[in-house]
Amino acid sequence: MTTSSNDAVSADVAENLTAVSARIRRAAETAPAGPVPVPELVAVSKTHDAAYVRRALDAGHRVFGENRVQEAVEKWPALKADFPDTVLHLIGPLQTNKVKDAVALFDVIETVDRPKLARRLASEFESSGRRPRCLIQVNTGEEPQKAGIAPGDTDDFVRLCRDDLELPVVGLMCIPPIDQDPAPHFALLAKLAERNGLPVVSMGMSGDYEIAIAMGATHVRVGTAIFGPRKPRPAA
Ligand SMILES: *Cc1c(COP(=O)(O)O)cnc(C)c1O
Repeated sequence: MTTSSNDAVSADVAENLTAVSARIRRAAETAPAGPVPVPELVAVSKTHDAAYVRRALDAGHRVFGENRVQEAVEKWPALKADFPDTVLHLIGPLQTNKVKDAVALFDVIETVDRPKLARRLASEFESSGRRPRCLIQVNTGEEPQKAGIAPGDTDDFVRLCRDDLELPVVGLMCIPPIDQDPAPHFALLAKLAERNGLPVVSMGMSGDYEIAIAMGATHVRVGTAIFGPRKPRPAA
């Protein structure tokens, strides 16, 4: 995308935040099973540069999501220094060699998805003294190429993380298959969270967050509807 088209949407970040927040509130008030608490809006700022993301901070927003540790490490320390009450969520895959950086920077790690990672997190929490809250990513569609614990393995994995490794596990997250109705996936995630006594359910993106709220989301992760189209990443 060109700089000029990014500028075209950039002036609207504050307006977009207001509009999305209003839609979130309305979805919570009109949930089919009765009103639910208004979910937290995680503003997904991946690919957008710090100066642009700052518009959302200036508008008063404080909860953000990034999906790449390296990008977040380059972008967020300065922003967090200026806005210390920021809450930063990692919403993308976490490689074990990035655990140290991730634990130092993020406040919530939404993508705990395998025993090896859980063990590395436990030891890094121990040595750093930092304890970001953890969500377990569930591969509700059981897609081979997608990260996450299979639904049938979720209870055991929660037990391993929470009881054996003593990670601060607070909830579950999912990314439904792109080509399917997300509602059954959201329903499954909410059910797994409830069964395990986990209060946080992270689900719903720009295209489906109102459905997710109706199905019990406590956190929605919204990027495009706030920041506009993502910039192409530089070639690796
Ligand atoms: C990019 C991303 C989002 C936000 O997607 P939009 O469609 O831009 O709202 C949400 N969750 C995850 C895990 C993402 O990677």
